[in-house]
Amino acid sequence: MSEFSLIADYFSRHAPNDGLGVGDDCAIITPPANQVLVACADTLISGRHFPIDTAPHAIGYKAVAVNLSDLAAMGARPHSILLALSLPSMDKAWLGEFSRGLYEICDEFGVQLIGGDTTKSPTLTISVSAFGFMTADKAVKRSGAKIGDVICVSGQLGSAAFALQNPNSPLQHTLDYPVPQVALGQILADFAHAMIDVSDGLAQDLGHILTASDVGAELYLEQIPLHPLLQTLPFETAMRHALAGGDDYQLCFTISPDNLEKLKNKHPNLPIFPIGKITKTRTQHTLIQNNTQNTVQNLRLICYHKGEIFPINAAGFNHFD
Ligand code: ADP
Ligand code: MG
Repeated sequence: MSEFSLIADYFSRHAPNDGLGVGDDCAIITPPANQVLVACADTLISGRHFPIDTAPHAIGYKAVAVNLSDLAAMGARPHSILLALSLPSMDKAWLGEFSRGLYEICDEFGVQLIGGDTTKSPTLTISVSAFGFMTADKAVKRSGAKIGDVICVSGQLGSAAFALQNPNSPLQHTLDYPVPQVALGQILADFAHAMIDVSDGLAQDLGHILTASDVGAELYLEQIPLHPLLQTLPFETAMRHALAGGDDYQLCFTISPDNLEKLKNKHPNLPIFPIGKITKTRTQHTLIQNNTQNTVQNLRLICYHKGEIFPINAAGFNHFD
């Protein structure tokens, strides 16, 4: 099978149509009037971002999902993707399943595959770029958090991290088939001050908002939504998954208390869980525990559990560890 017949067989379902589609040197994207193009890219490497034996259907699905999650975190409406695929071999069964998973999520979110690149390489690597549209002044940045904002998340955290450590658990699907919060992201664009999608663990990703906005935060750990399976774990283990696990693909956003009320009145059934607040300073806290005095190191983010400071190594997942 040549590179060209591979593209024709597996990745050409969306043929060129006014320049939009696979087949020419470039695809042409025209944003609707008064909208801007929002773009992102994410790479999945076999053995690093997913276990080597992950089902190819799930890999195709997830490679797109993680990008749509980035678009959701800006409040954008997804439009199209590019796919750069590096394959160790041309395995027809693998390609068939991979492209089925990829097109499944494209159909779910009305997204077209408009081009890409295909190469041979020893390590299976999938890089997807995604494009979306939105009204320019509505983009929700990381830098917009304000003192007094409520910090919210859109759903349960730590489930994918649990699934990674417990293969074939009932939470496996949360790891393999993350659900990008695309519709919610677009609603929040009218209400939130700052937003990020939780891909590397809440502590690290919320940390990006705090740094970009130059504010601090208090988290009330007992308010973090957890799957019932995580609720049965020792609290510290559950928090390690929720704060430093990664692969959640929920949205974390900050919103004024007024806007939170307006949002809830206008959209009463949205999954929105307040878990903390944005604070002014990073006061030094000390903690007396078992007669030893500990200083809380991370002064930007202070975690409380039932009113007590909860010392946790909340570094999140760092790709260069
Ligand atoms: P070029 O040599 O001009 O870069 P290619 O031969 O790599 O073009 O690709 C031919 C066409 O197929 C282009 O429209 C490109 O966007 C598309 N394409 C290549 N690989 C993929 C892929 N994995 N998925 C979708 N489209 C692809
Ligand atoms: Mg060309």
